[in-house]
Amino acid sequence: MRKKIVAGNWKMNLLDEEVINFIVDFNSRKNEIESDSEIIILPASIYLDTMISMPDWDIKIGAQNCSQFNNGAYTGEISAAMLRDFDYDSENLHYCLVGHSERREYFNEQNDVLAEKVNRLIENGLKPIYCCGEELQHRESESHFDWVQAQIEEGLFHLKEEELKQVVIAYEPVWAIGTGKTATSNQAQEMHAFIRSLIAKKYGDATANSISILYGGSCKPENASELFDQPDIDGGLIGGASLKVDSFIQIINSF
Ligand code: PEP
Repeated sequence: MRKKIVAGNWKMNLLDEEVINFIVDFNSRKNEIESDSEIIILPASIYLDTMISMPDWDIKIGAQNCSQFNNGAYTGEISAAMLRDFDYDSENLHYCLVGHSERREYFNEQNDVLAEKVNRLIENGLKPIYCCGEELQHRESESHFDWVQAQIEEGLFHLKEEELKQVVIAYEPVWAIGTGKTATSNQAQEMHAFIRSLIAKKYGDATANSISILYGGSCKPENASELFDQPDIDGGLIGGASLKVDSFIQIINSF
């Protein structure tokens, strides 16, 4: 059985007090959660400590980015080893996003650099949530499968089978992120099945069937159930709707 996952990507939102308020509110409503999916929150790195230190906070935590380098003169960067070191004892920090479309677009991160980030995370015992997804122009020119295939092959297919099993994939069509336009459940299912078939060709069916592939892009309480009902959609990477406890819990309960 593949793991079902609902992950909240907070991006560059929420200040310390808002982070604390979210957690206190979320914790007080834990009894409303009816789903057995794994819940992950990815706050800004500066607030990872706030989250890890909160009492009764047993939800998994992840970072939004890490450096492709091990260490050295890379001002402003945070290494995968630092993330690991940060929470070595309590082990709540399990994940890190890699290749979110905003990193690809605004920070010009290409597949080869992302492959290195994936390596650093795996070397340090953290699980990459590797994002892929086409822009509108690719879908309109019907090159979206080729585009996503290149992202998957160039970012992940250098991994050994056991390493790939540490990865969660998030398919996020760029035209659906933060725009209010969601991929239809058919469009999302079609791409998820395609990604799984690529993995099956390279690593075999058992590995392909063990990897969780999340959908992201304007996922909200109104459309989450239909998306999560699709056979190859194993959960969601949620942006805007993860910033409010109410909508986040409703999405978690959509499984
Ligand atoms: C995201 O940024 O990963 C995302 C899916 O954002 P939103 O849900 O706001 O579209």
